[in-house]
Amino acid sequence: MTQVVKEQDIWNQFLEFAKKSCSEMEYYNWLEPIKVTEISEEKLVLEVPNIFVKEYLIDNYLDDLKQFLPQNNGSAIEVEFVIAQTAPKKAAPVQPGQQPKKQQAYQCQLNQLYTFENFIEGPSNQFVKSAAIGVAYRPGKSFNPLFIHGGVGLGKTHLLHGIGHYIQKTFKKLTTHCITTEAFINELVNSLRNKSIDKWKKFYRNVDVLLVDDIQFLQNRLNFEEEFCNTFEALINQNKQIVITSDKPPSQLKLSERMIARMEWGLVAHIEVPELETRVAIIQHKAQIKGIQISNDVAFFIADHIYSNVRQLEGAINRLSAFAKLMRTPITIDLAENLLKEFIDVIPQSKVSIDNILKTVATVFNVKISDIKGESRLKNIALARQVAMFLAKELMNESLIQIAASFGGKTHSTLLHAWKKISKQITEDTQLKRQVDMVKKNLQ
Ligand code: ADP
Ligand code: MG
Repeated sequence: MTQVVKEQDIWNQFLEFAKKSCSEMEYYNWLEPIKVTEISEEKLVLEVPNIFVKEYLIDNYLDDLKQFLPQNNGSAIEVEFVIAQTAPKKAAPVQPGQQPKKQQAYQCQLNQLYTFENFIEGPSNQFVKSAAIGVAYRPGKSFNPLFIHGGVGLGKTHLLHGIGHYIQKTFKKLTTHCITTEAFINELVNSLRNKSIDKWKKFYRNVDVLLVDDIQFLQNRLNFEEEFCNTFEALINQNKQIVITSDKPPSQLKLSERMIARMEWGLVAHIEVPELETRVAIIQHKAQIKGIQISNDVAFFIADHIYSNVRQLEGAINRLSAFAKLMRTPITIDLAENLLKEFIDVIPQSKVSIDNILKTVATVFNVKISDIKGESRLKNIALARQVAMFLAKELMNESLIQIAASFGGKTHSTLLHAWKKISKQITEDTQLKRQVDMVKKNLQ
């Protein structure tokens, strides 16, 4: 048979085949991210986002894949894998295997998963989410610009795309353009080089909604800053909506005063690190999207250990789910602890031990250590117990689960309850506050 099939088609055919034999979720998670980087008569080189995708493909599809590949002197050609250097942007709506078009300028790509519905709300992000929704519901008519800032992996891009999705769906006539600052600069450079700057400007002057991600990359790019500022003003003057994200507030960006002032015109909203409950909810939600079961205990364990970056939470779930699927094992706390070592946030060791806390609380509150560890509901004992739990959570680096266990096998929710109760009570009851401070002083 003559090999007239175009090389890229081989991979596409294989994907078509694989798509029929697995769930949509599996296809999306495992197969779609794979890219063909080389295909010849000798070998096929596939770029995979991580080792798990490689193992998944080898385990589940290698034999099938070989059926699709042309023979090389009677033997199947070799399949090689390379691990992608940077994590690929998820859900870019490029057809599997299709080469990205050369001229991608002016095209708006939103991550399909970054919708408002998928954005879990909690006290840390309620304000910024409401602001984003406000802008999406009434583009150009509420806050303009909306400036969202906060640390890495806290959902800035997610909200930006959420706005884009909503507007695209609801206001079909509006042109929405979402771009990273780096891409903006690249486009500008290219259009200068290709002498198509007028076309470029015309495009930007005509968008109705401009979503700009990571404006911090405009720092120290003087020439580009000016062009960005012109675009910005042209749009704002026509009441076109602008949303900008950044890792710092406007005033801390090394940009011109003019630019900073413009960015402060509308609403500046800060996105904070989500608190424990929100992190648990995010984990559960992400697990659900991935179609895996994570028990509350495991979700809690992860949320308790990874707290400064939601992207890392997601990485943790990806790893757990990959492992659980490959090994066909349930996800337990032990498994999580083992697999997530490198994700776990490192906290400096404290010298405070549970024994010290128990001893000191027992002394200050005049109860026995065994009572604190026991089940008695006598008022003074229960209070001492709750104070000890409160201080353990405040002062120790152990996970809540570990701390709870040191209190005669209580659960983490008992611990959390105690912590909340005492946190509130010491703001109202000065005597209790004094006692708690006394314990603290003795401990340190
Ligand atoms: P940033 O742009 O702030 O660095 P991203 O928007 O890329 O962060 O978010 C990182 C990851 O965390 C994304 O996959 C996003 O979906 C997820 N994420 C962050 N915050 C939330 C949230 N509140 N609910 C659900 N997912 C979240
Ligand atoms: Mg981002």
